[in-house]
Amino acid sequence: MPINANFPECKICNQTEWDLVYSGPVRAGSFTVKTAPTEVRCCKGCGIWQLSEDCAFDSETYASEEYREAMGQGTEVEDFFKAHDEYQPYNIKGIAGLNYRGAVIADVGCGAGSFLDHVSGLAKKVLSIEPTPLYHASLKSRGYHVYPFTIDALKTEKNSVDFVTSFQVIEHVDDPVKFLDELSKLLVDDGRIVVATPNREDILLKLIPDEFMPFYFRRAHRWYFDQKCLTACAEKAGLVVEEIKFIHTFDMSNTLSWLKDKVPKGNNRLNGILPEMDQLWTTFLQASGQADNIYMTLKKP
Ligand SMILES: [Zn+2]
Repeated sequence: MPINANFPECKICNQTEWDLVYSGPVRAGSFTVKTAPTEVRCCKGCGIWQLSEDCAFDSETYASEEYREAMGQGTEVEDFFKAHDEYQPYNIKGIAGLNYRGAVIADVGCGAGSFLDHVSGLAKKVLSIEPTPLYHASLKSRGYHVYPFTIDALKTEKNSVDFVTSFQVIEHVDDPVKFLDELSKLLVDDGRIVVATPNREDILLKLIPDEFMPFYFRRAHRWYFDQKCLTACAEKAGLVVEEIKFIHTFDMSNTLSWLKDKVPKGNNRLNGILPEMDQLWTTFLQASGQADNIYMTLKKP
């Protein structure tokens, strides 16, 4: 089958040469639906991996109900909480060390505000930045200041935010450098940004690339980062990396199930695998940079 692959100039470093990383179908929405064959390539300049432009969702898609439905997440606020509340302990670990008490905080791509609900009691003021209008009334009812995009918030909130977070968003945007540049404009001079994104050093990409890649790559993710190319984006946006954490969100049984059955099984404990084993596995993956997520704390120079 012929493959439509469209890789113009790299948005990060302006190079036009790419190496092939993957060729085949990717996730269309939820993991059960696949696209026609496409490509993921690595920029020879900055090392970022990109999904072919003609396959990646464009930015308008994220404001639509169709997007949430395609992801199999439903369109109600309660559906969002059901899908995202369980991940907030990882995000709380990601911001560990930042004192939110009395702070002005912003979460960019906050969805229905699951993370914000976990930290808002400490904050002086909460900005919720989310393109999907589905969640706006509910966010407002919780006392959050609602903006569709960062550029909307910048009209009144420039240089006023102590902590900006953005979890699992940068891999979706059109231009990661422009995205980080806009986040930095929200910050007070000694503020911090924490961005989290899937880590392409995830051990499953090394152990079973043939089976894991069609699951890992998806239309919703235009970009795939490791710590090096995420650092390059941050520096290009004029930011300095203060800390990098690797945080793993699956258990040992998940890895073993992938190796055994070659299909996603979620977190379902296998007979004989005790919580202590999860602890050891998570500690190893996080220490060796092979966990499934990167959390990067950024500041102004
Ligand atoms: Zn590049």
